Amino acid sequence: MSLDFALPTEVAELRAEAREVAATAVADLPVKEDSWMVGTSREFSLELAERGWIGMTWPREWGGHGRSPLERFVVVEALVSAGAPMATSWFADRQIGPTLLQFGTDEQRRRWLPEIVQGRSAWCIGMSEPDAGSDVASIRTRALECRDGSGQWRITGTKVWTSGAAEADWCYLVARTDPDAPPHAGLSEFVVDMRSAGIEVNRITDATGNEHFCEVHFDDVAVPADNLVGRPNGSFSQVMRQMEHERGGIDRLVSNRALYADAIANLGDPTPLVRQEVARLESGYLLGRQMVMREVMGQAPRGWSAITKTYCTEFEQRVAEFCVAHAGPEAMLWNRLSRGICYAPAYTIMGGTTQILRNVIAERYLGLPRD
Ligand SMILES: Cc1cc2nc3c(=O)[nH]c(=O)nc-3n(C[C@H](O)[C@H](O)[C@H](O)COP(=O)(O)OP(=O)(O)OC[C@H]3O[C@@H](n4cnc5c(N)ncnc54)[C@H](O)[C@@H]3O)c2cc1C
Repeated sequence: MSLDFALPTEVAELRAEAREVAATAVADLPVKEDSWMVGTSREFSLELAERGWIGMTWPREWGGHGRSPLERFVVVEALVSAGAPMATSWFADRQIGPTLLQFGTDEQRRRWLPEIVQGRSAWCIGMSEPDAGSDVASIRTRALECRDGSGQWRITGTKVWTSGAAEADWCYLVARTDPDAPPHAGLSEFVVDMRSAGIEVNRITDATGNEHFCEVHFDDVAVPADNLVGRPNGSFSQVMRQMEHERGGIDRLVSNRALYADAIANLGDPTPLVRQEVARLESGYLLGRQMVMREVMGQAPRGWSAITKTYCTEFEQRVAEFCVAHAGPEAMLWNRLSRGICYAPAYTIMGGTTQILRNVIAERYLGLPRD
């Protein structure tokens, strides 16, 4: 029996439309890589919203568009592959919205989902801390419940590598609410208004000169009781679910697809060895896409995203190496190519490092012993 990979006509048309929108959006952009992370644009966020491309699969009753995961997949693949500047809406679209849908109250969904779908709010994710990156259980940022009967919380601590914090309206923050519980059992999740008194945001410049991530200090920041999402002290399992949204998507495969497309266009008359490398990358791309597609179609086992993210982000690093290796001396200039290779280590760090994910794969999938 043969497999038919052709898209249904209406989905193929949607993909063509998304490719056109992306091509227009990137026409004047000097850098097209990693656009879901560094391509900030309130204007483009509004355009995505107008086309119904934020919250595409969310239920209509919560402001979403009730479309299929396949439709969302082709739109996101087209936009990120081309480098469309979608960072402003992406974190909320990819993981905050789904988290609120799964763990939020009706009131919280009514409050935050429509503004996300309308492209009017930007979110950042406050998980990592100076001494708690891979190990979420080590989070020290404290949330104390006020004893004045208001139910309000006061949050104090420091988050780091918080992408988009300087432009964000809201921070989805994980904080310790029970210091006496075992480390992974005393954490809760809050939506924090980034305009609150007591928040200081300092930009961090990365190796490419970009300033998308930040260090964020919270000094006794007041957060209303209604902003606690999900179970008090139940964040650990919620975070694990959120990470599945973060790790298993097509954005993890195509961050530098635009760089690759330009490198291929400039290859000239490649030797058989180079052609073999291209063949390996092309088949590698199809493999990664199939892994993502399993997630998209709901056919992946729970936790599969650890495998998808590990494979896809290592693939992105191979792409960066290929582009630089075949550019010749041009790669020594400070340009997209050198930027691409400087940024590449980030792929296997953000959203869970490859080492951590290999541990997860070894223990949960392969059943290997811990020591
Ligand atoms: C581009 C980018 C954007 C990011 N955006 C955000 C964001 O928006 N919000 C946010 O909260 N965080 C963000 N992060 C932070 C990211 O989640 C962390 O960097 C990541 O989880 C690793 O944590 P760490 O840097 O503290 O490294 P550590 O956890 O200190 O790890 C250091 C090294 O030790 C290895 N290691 C650690 N523990 C083990 C173990 N048990 N077994 C084997 N090896 C181990 C790691 O693999 C790594 O190589 C971002 C990071 C990057 C690069």
